[in-house]
Amino acid sequence: MKKLLYVEGDLPAALLAQTGFDSAANDGQTETNSGASEAILDELIACEFARFSVNDYRGLPNAPAFEITGGTLPAIISAPHAVTSVRDGKIKPSEDYIGAIALTVAKRTGCHAIVATRTDTGDPNWDELASSPYKQALCDHVRANGIKLVIDLHGMVAASPALVAVGSADGETVSHAPGLDARIASLLRDELQAYSTRHDKPIVLNGQYAARGHNTVARTVARECSISALQIEVATQLRVPARHKGHTPKGEKVPFSGKQLPAELAARKVADPAAVESLIGALCKAVRLALGEVG
Ligand SMILES: [Zn+2]
Repeated sequence: MKKLLYVEGDLPAALLAQTGFDSAANDGQTETNSGASEAILDELIACEFARFSVNDYRGLPNAPAFEITGGTLPAIISAPHAVTSVRDGKIKPSEDYIGAIALTVAKRTGCHAIVATRTDTGDPNWDELASSPYKQALCDHVRANGIKLVIDLHGMVAASPALVAVGSADGETVSHAPGLDARIASLLRDELQAYSTRHDKPIVLNGQYAARGHNTVARTVARECSISALQIEVATQLRVPARHKGHTPKGEKVPFSGKQLPAELAARKVADPAAVESLIGALCKAVRLALGEVG
């Protein structure tokens, strides 16, 4: 079985020119033994290449800094770190596949989406609202479309102590739906238990990554728009569906120096597309459960 996974070197011109989400290229360079949905993974991987990983995860030069796609349900999936960002003047590496996963979850559920698509001057999960076009646009879109729920997706490195980290700033971002954060964490534990056991990593609520910073996307939109928001961080083991031939991923060189690198390379060497498919399914269920409570 031949499938398009990571491509070494330059991308095909046709793929570079692609900015849509539906078409997929397949040059048969690498393969996988996954039993997961091939069509979905092809789409996920083609989407990642076309929109996020190009130019070492800085996006296409002529792309907007972020894109918003419409939906039919009153929820929006956010991925502010889908490409490399700049935090306090320093490069903050991208979070591989989080942009493509966000778009896939949005498409499957009928939610809206906002994803970073080109490296800009800032970091939407760090900058003040007044200097963050991403968060301003998100808040405007939430208000204009009656959106009641924001899921802000992020990626953690393989060495993270948790497999998935749900954050609500200790309940603040779900103050209109008390306990929603715990119920979402519980759902994700149920859905992803096999992976949690396999990797010996828990699925945590309000641990190390809890969206507590004043300017996080989740806290900002919950505060400014008086709606519910959750931050969900996913470790490499659940979000990277393609092995990378043992190389450090392009665009992720900075955080994987030193002691984090061996764990990262090991996780990518056994990259498991079925795990990513399971994550996407679990996130879709989480969105539906949450919307049932706040929608
Ligand atoms: Zn992030």
